[in-house]
Amino acid sequence: MVRVRIHVEGIVQGVGFRPFVYTLAGELAVSGFVRNTAAGVVIEAEAQPATLTAFTDALRSRAPALARIDALRFEPIPGTGVAGFEIELSQADGPRRTLISPDTATCADCLAEMADPDDRRYRYPFTNCTNCGPRFTIVTGVPYDRPATTMAGFPMCAECRREYGDPADRRFHAQPLCCPACGPTLRLVDATGADLPGDPVEATADLLRSGSVVAVKGLGGYHLAVDAGSEDAVATLRSRKHREDKPFAVLMPSLAAARLWCDIDPAAAALLTGHRRPIVLLPRHPDVLVAAALAPGNDHVGVLLPYTPLHQLLAQAVDGPIVLTSGNVSDEPIAYLDDDARTRLAGIADAFMCHDRPIRMRTDDSVVRVVRGRPQPVRRSRGYAPEPITLPLDCSRAVLAVGAELKNTFCLARGRQAFVSHHIGDLENYETMRSFLDGIAHFGMLFDIVPEVVAYDLHPEYLSTKHALQLGDGELPGVELVGVQHHHAHIASCLADNGELGPVIGVAYDGTGYGCDGTLWGGEILLADLADCRRLAHLAPVALPGGAAAIRAPWRMAAAYLQAAYGEDLPP
Ligand SMILES: [Zn+2]
Ligand SMILES: [Zn+2]
Repeated sequence: MVRVRIHVEGIVQGVGFRPFVYTLAGELAVSGFVRNTAAGVVIEAEAQPATLTAFTDALRSRAPALARIDALRFEPIPGTGVAGFEIELSQADGPRRTLISPDTATCADCLAEMADPDDRRYRYPFTNCTNCGPRFTIVTGVPYDRPATTMAGFPMCAECRREYGDPADRRFHAQPLCCPACGPTLRLVDATGADLPGDPVEATADLLRSGSVVAVKGLGGYHLAVDAGSEDAVATLRSRKHREDKPFAVLMPSLAAARLWCDIDPAAAALLTGHRRPIVLLPRHPDVLVAAALAPGNDHVGVLLPYTPLHQLLAQAVDGPIVLTSGNVSDEPIAYLDDDARTRLAGIADAFMCHDRPIRMRTDDSVVRVVRGRPQPVRRSRGYAPEPITLPLDCSRAVLAVGAELKNTFCLARGRQAFVSHHIGDLENYETMRSFLDGIAHFGMLFDIVPEVVAYDLHPEYLSTKHALQLGDGELPGVELVGVQHHHAHIASCLADNGELGPVIGVAYDGTGYGCDGTLWGGEILLADLADCRRLAHLAPVALPGGAAAIRAPWRMAAAYLQAAYGEDLPP
């Protein structure tokens, strides 16, 4: 007999990893134990050498769908001769290295239970298990345990507690687990918060069919929903939202329904039906008639499939495409707190489909497109955050990168892990700025990272830059500040994303970014690696009529280019 201690790092908590190890050990007659630690999972396994090899191979090859093993470390230790295998209680000391998994689309097993009239979770809109359900959006603290989620206020009923405690059950230690007897409740209310009659799902479907706008509380915030087949309803939503021409995303009841509207290649189909469930930008069939106000002047449409039980029930009840767009007025951040949503969306939504499970972290839907068979994120948020990107080099010091001002995301990095935040938004909005500060503090707490280096954009007027300078001005004692040129940051991110160190010739065409020489840069060709860059070539500079106004109204730039090309001889 040989005994070995195995340290497992990666996404191994809250994803059914311990029950998997327990079952595997039983199958192979391995004795020992498994337990969660602050750094991941530790296993002690004792068996014949050949059995141990099979056991450790299977840890990787048969790991649960949502688990991500970043590292396995082995340490031979003396055997104990004790038979049997156990799941031991958690141990929370030591440095925190565990990952919080992203929110995950409802799994096939949970969908089957919801469709079974004899199951106790029949049509229950908050069904989840170890393999699916809310995670990042409900986590309030560490270690990841029910009291450190927004499910803390829902004590488990006896039956749920039995599932939670049974290593052979799919819901063993599933922190958000619940049922109709003990979990959150779905309601349909008006703007004053008063209940509307009927089954909330069926009543919402009726409202949508009659052309109403309904605010729907999802995983990371509120959406606004209308019948996507109704020209009037879509136009009403667009005018109430003051959203002139940005396209609306559409929730389809099934992949087959989505195919009626769009060309869907295998890569796009995998994204639509996978566990992350982003909005996928798809080419629309030219002969399909859709509401003109859906995506004006756009031959693509953003499509998503249901990713929570609630969306599943709603899509089934409507049995047709539903517009599902962010619950906000024009450029504000999406509403995610119930009272705030009813106040801010009162003039837009006729009713609110809501529930009493609080959202901790406002998180927008992700948006992805497929380019030559490869998914390319346009907005990496719900379903992806806070899963880290693996860096091509080791950060010996913890880094906070505060990001730019528009469409902000921030990033905390340590070792080879870069925790890129969910989509934060445009920082000039006060509410968004608060999300930015709260998000940085939350990530720091979850991943136990105190920045030693703060990277910021060279633009002195970015609010993110001002925040970094404040941190350097005594708020974070001893921190080193590093200014990074905007286009260089784009190219370095691209390198890191592809696991490359450079140097490369990088091309970054991006509106405006503050240049190393204090002028605004736009179309840049840089010789760059992760640390440095040299400006090789760039588009000729032109006037920026109205300063920042030209960024919001690109026709001003067109006029400036015409002026530069023709001078005073500008043709009429
Ligand atoms: Zn499930
Ligand atoms: Zn229950």
